[in-house]
Amino acid sequence: MDNVLTFKRGRVPLLISMPHAGLRLTPAVESGLIDEAKSLPDTDWHIPRLYDFADELGASIVAAEYSRFVIDLNRPSDNKPLYAGATTGLYPETLFDGVPLFHQQPSDAERARYLEEIWVPYHRTIEQELARLRDEFGYALLWDAHSIRSHVPHLFEGRLPDFNLGTFNGASCDPELARRLESVCAGFGDYTHVLNGRFKGGHITRHFGDPAKHIHAVQLELAQSAYMEEFEPFNYREDLARPTQVVLKALLSELLAWARQHYPR
Ligand SMILES: [Zn+2]
Repeated sequence: MDNVLTFKRGRVPLLISMPHAGLRLTPAVESGLIDEAKSLPDTDWHIPRLYDFADELGASIVAAEYSRFVIDLNRPSDNKPLYAGATTGLYPETLFDGVPLFHQQPSDAERARYLEEIWVPYHRTIEQELARLRDEFGYALLWDAHSIRSHVPHLFEGRLPDFNLGTFNGASCDPELARRLESVCAGFGDYTHVLNGRFKGGHITRHFGDPAKHIHAVQLELAQSAYMEEFEPFNYREDLARPTQVVLKALLSELLAWARQHYPR
């Protein structure tokens, strides 16, 4: 399989990962999806566009090209459930609303290939880039960038806060860093936020975040209502996105500022 990811090396010790931004399908997945799934409703829509300022910031970026309906890059390769209660797995079987995703699932052999040819390269890219950053700067920062509809009754009650920061209950980054990010969010009164609420960080955050080894990982699950139409055709809303990008920039700048203070050279 070709073009399974996009990677761009930056110049600051920050890697932004976009594991659910991909829109490509394999023939086996495409032909097996139910009609309702063909518009890829559970995509983290427009994440590369929303973070287009990251270039200017100098961050490295890795983004998935394949849809999470092919393989979910934010799940462990052994497919252990990430959350108690309703969740979706390495090879999702349902839409977020609980409806079965496939009328015909890809074969096990086909899926083993997705693991080898899509999941492994994505994770290897993160691992190698974090190692390079830590070698060069003495530390590395990982921002796992996500978004989701603000209402998904099957997955959570009520309306999600706008900014959902996840640090695996404090295990994936320095606690002081998490507090600083929370206070950045609190400074923007038009938005709501929570730390380690319904979304505590998925596999990428949990696996790569290792503060004792100077790798600090944070997941942001952003409510899609903060920058787009949450329903088909999932249009990007420049008017909503622009002020949200101001908050995102402030969060990533704070991440870098905290690290520069924490690791003086
Ligand atoms: Zn996501």
